[in-house]
Amino acid sequence: MKMAAIGIAAGLIAVGKPAVRPPASLGPPVVVCMDRPAEPTMLYRAQLEASEILSLVSVSVDWGSGRACREPDAIHIHLNSQTSESMMPGALAFCRPGSNTDIQILYDRVRATVAPDMEVHLLAYVLAHELTHMIEGETRHSETGVMKAHWTAHDYLAMSSGGLGFAAEDVQLVQRGMAIRLANRQTQSGKNIRALVDPSRDN
Ligand SMILES: [Zn+2]
Repeated sequence: MKMAAIGIAAGLIAVGKPAVRPPASLGPPVVVCMDRPAEPTMLYRAQLEASEILSLVSVSVDWGSGRACREPDAIHIHLNSQTSESMMPGALAFCRPGSNTDIQILYDRVRATVAPDMEVHLLAYVLAHELTHMIEGETRHSETGVMKAHWTAHDYLAMSSGGLGFAAEDVQLVQRGMAIRLANRQTQSGKNIRALVDPSRDN
């Protein structure tokens, strides 16, 4: 299984294509369940900002808890606060799209990468980046925007004003990924109904 990681680049590259906004909502919210960090206020702000970023591609997020987190398509995010140096050097987070494996955010590295007033913005974009991998079901990266493999100082500047968008190909891949999620959910729902009607039936 391929792994996708977001890291940091030292050089400066201008952000290219403008974001393209798809025309409509792409179905029910994606349920995302997260560990609670030591600073829940900062996490709450980052979640709000990540929701705004993903709304650019018509994805709504339900920062779920309890029963919602037991749904088979819920995405789980863990915050690592004591990342070893040997763990994927340079990475800020990683996930395995297409699997049920959770997203790992290397929270201590996120915090150490930027000035304190930028931490919430970087965490929001890391969340949006990894969630987009899971929705697209792809490890690939784009030349520009939220799905770049390595953000630069220009990108960080755009993040601080909410101006870092999605490349056109990501808009399309997210639409495809959300359609697959919806189809899988309907298939699962059909299985559950059949199991209720005929409990002996093989699911
Ligand atoms: Zn990535």
